[in-house]
Amino acid sequence: PTLERETARRKVENTARELWYYINAKMNDLSTMALESSSVKNLVQEMQKSLAGYQSVMVDDFHSLQLVDGDEDWRISESRKLGDLVQKRLHFLQNPAECRKARVVVCDLKKGCGFGCQVHHAAYCLLVAYATERTLVLDSEGWRYAGGGGWESMFQPLSDTCTDASGQSVHWAASSQGSSPVRVVHLPIVDALHPRPDFLPLAIPEDLAPQLKTFHGDPPVWWIGQLLRYLMRPQKHLQEDFDQSAKKMGFQKPIVGVHIRRTDKVGVEAAFHSLEEYMRHVEDYYQQLEHRTGPVTRRVYLATDDPGVLKEAREKYGNYNFVSDNDISRTASLGSRYSQSSLRGIILDMHFLSSTDYLVCTFSSQVCRVAYELMQTLHGDASTFFRSLDDSFYFGGQNAHNMRAVENHKASRHEELSMQVGDLLGIAGNHWDGFSQGTNRRSGQSGLYPSYKVVNDIVAVKMPLYVDVKE
Ligand code: GDP
Repeated sequence: PTLERETARRKVENTARELWYYINAKMNDLSTMALESSSVKNLVQEMQKSLAGYQSVMVDDFHSLQLVDGDEDWRISESRKLGDLVQKRLHFLQNPAECRKARVVVCDLKKGCGFGCQVHHAAYCLLVAYATERTLVLDSEGWRYAGGGGWESMFQPLSDTCTDASGQSVHWAASSQGSSPVRVVHLPIVDALHPRPDFLPLAIPEDLAPQLKTFHGDPPVWWIGQLLRYLMRPQKHLQEDFDQSAKKMGFQKPIVGVHIRRTDKVGVEAAFHSLEEYMRHVEDYYQQLEHRTGPVTRRVYLATDDPGVLKEAREKYGNYNFVSDNDISRTASLGSRYSQSSLRGIILDMHFLSSTDYLVCTFSSQVCRVAYELMQTLHGDASTFFRSLDDSFYFGGQNAHNMRAVENHKASRHEELSMQVGDLLGIAGNHWDGFSQGTNRRSGQSGLYPSYKVVNDIVAVKMPLYVDVKE
């Protein structure tokens, strides 16, 4: 398969998906309107039913198209090969022959935030390390998690040979973007990084771009997933914990991952969403799957910080098998959020969420974004295996994320913006109803635009080639 063919296939599938979001939203509007005529009401009902049929067959058709000629095997093999190459490069970078002489970049894990946020902080540090060819030294001493055990209490050390960050050091601001000859560079958190390099997410390495853009629908997510894969290589005891927990819980495919983030997030950084809102998408997923395969056991891996949700789910959805580690849900709700046991809880939840077939969650939560990123390392192209109830995908602290207009658009309501083919649009979010919110970089106008009229503008940036590392 060529880049041109795969891009065209994904684009038509995306157009169809956006068309469906649009129709679905409008039909819902219609059905809740106080319609006077009962014949119109009946027509709306009949259309909703028929459209669901069209939609279901169309999704199946796209699925078949994706599998044709063994293309799916090809995607899996491409993702594996390229992923293994990235892992080898990171291993090479992290294990210099002579640590004393190796240039390093130091990050500390004292960022005062949740585990997902800290993992993303570490991913950003590893990215800077990769792009500046400096070995990353992660200082997890005094880490709020792990009760003093540090990162290595759960994950393999980032380096077998090089953890020494002594000697002359400078801060990033004075390091000429890391190219300074000084051995040690200290990194601040991403929001405080000045100057800001062009290689920050959502950029991808230029040398990987042609291959990556061909097999994957959202290359930046795949790339971030590879950084996390290196960082989160489990210690032996953690891998055993994964395996045993999976057995104990009955974690089996097919399975949908649902992450329900409540407690301190609600009303502050995200809106409340009822269990029903999540389950609607789980129902859609299984209806679609069963249309293809016949009846299956409907499993849901449920992760949440809200202790009441699992019980509610089991009571309300008797036809589902809710898989969850009770210990995990208990530790999530304990006051001691940063204890060793809560660390285990969130790591297992992230691991199992990423191992599902499909994710239903809020991308405003870093927990679910980590799961979605890791999920990419386990498939050929899992870029469409999710449904977010709020944000579209982003990386906290990312450089401007732009879409490119591929159709002209003339605003037809005052909330809309106008655009011309080629315009760049800063995206603020997809509303999942056919429209996205954004700002036209050319005209400065902000507003809604039809999501199907743009494509992702992927930024590929020159990064080191690691020529000594062979595929
Ligand atoms: P965000 O605040 O949701 O964007 O993500 P963070 O990871 O930065 O902070 C949320 C923290 O809440 C996590 O690190 C966990 O400690 C806890 N938490 C949230 N959701 C879950 C969950 O599904 N399971 C468990 N075990 N803990 C969770």
